[in-house]
Amino acid sequence: MLTDYHLHLRSDALDATAQEHYSPANVERYRTAARERGIAELGVSEHVYRFTQALDLWRHPFWEQYAHDDLDHYCGFVREQTDLRLGIETDFVPGAEDRTANLLERRDFDYVVGSVHFMREGAVDMGEYSAWDSGLSAEEIWRRYFRTLGEAAGSGLFDVLAHPDLVKWWGAERPLPEGDLRRYYELAIEGIAETGIAVEVSTAGLRKRAGEIYPAPAFLEMCLEVGASVALSSDAHRPQDVGADYEQALAMLSELGVGELCVFDRRVRRLEPIGASETSTPGPSGAGRA
Ligand SMILES: [Zn+2]
Ligand SMILES: [Zn+2]
Repeated sequence: MLTDYHLHLRSDALDATAQEHYSPANVERYRTAARERGIAELGVSEHVYRFTQALDLWRHPFWEQYAHDDLDHYCGFVREQTDLRLGIETDFVPGAEDRTANLLERRDFDYVVGSVHFMREGAVDMGEYSAWDSGLSAEEIWRRYFRTLGEAAGSGLFDVLAHPDLVKWWGAERPLPEGDLRRYYELAIEGIAETGIAVEVSTAGLRKRAGEIYPAPAFLEMCLEVGASVALSSDAHRPQDVGADYEQALAMLSELGVGELCVFDRRVRRLEPIGASETSTPGPSGAGRA
């Protein structure tokens, strides 16, 4: 089985409408791309801050700008008009744990992807509201990012921990702490161990300035040591990125001895052996890619 659970049906453009992206035709474009790459298990996890209900969790100006859709309309569309797993990408908002739990528990998600894009000091992955403009050193930003990630993992709110070292998003365009980075990863490990949250291996970092898979192999290795299991995703925001660069992710997983991936159904997790399904377009020999 191969999965792609962290998918967005819309682009990040502010003017991308729900109408044009939450449609069976758009979903079919994602399905087709997945089929060509042997990915059988697909789920969508739209950003929570796209929905008006998210403003009960946080009224950050960035969220106020984006919160236009109705969450229940999205859930209804995915359940009734598609064969995708129903997920959501939910930011960890410290202090809003109860309200977050309430929002999530009232819908029948298959899984919840938990993210840290913002720390209290600002965002790590965008130019606006940037933590990198806060006057903190790279060391302090990395420390605070991984502490917040550990809090997110330990909160018990989420099934999957998204892009676990997103703080490297800018690559060489922002200062990188020196030396062995495991001293930062260590700050998140207790939270990861405590709840047994699945750790996302995401190829999205390869398409960003970071130019690397999230998380770094050393971080994933530490997660595996405390018993974490892996969820595999591309974080595609358009059909052509579904399953992008999975060869690299699968090579990394194989090197670290990971042979199974998490599969989710109504927030219950099971493990399935890694393997591509047969593609719908047989090769010259008549056999699909096994
Ligand atoms: Zn994200
Ligand atoms: Zn995402």
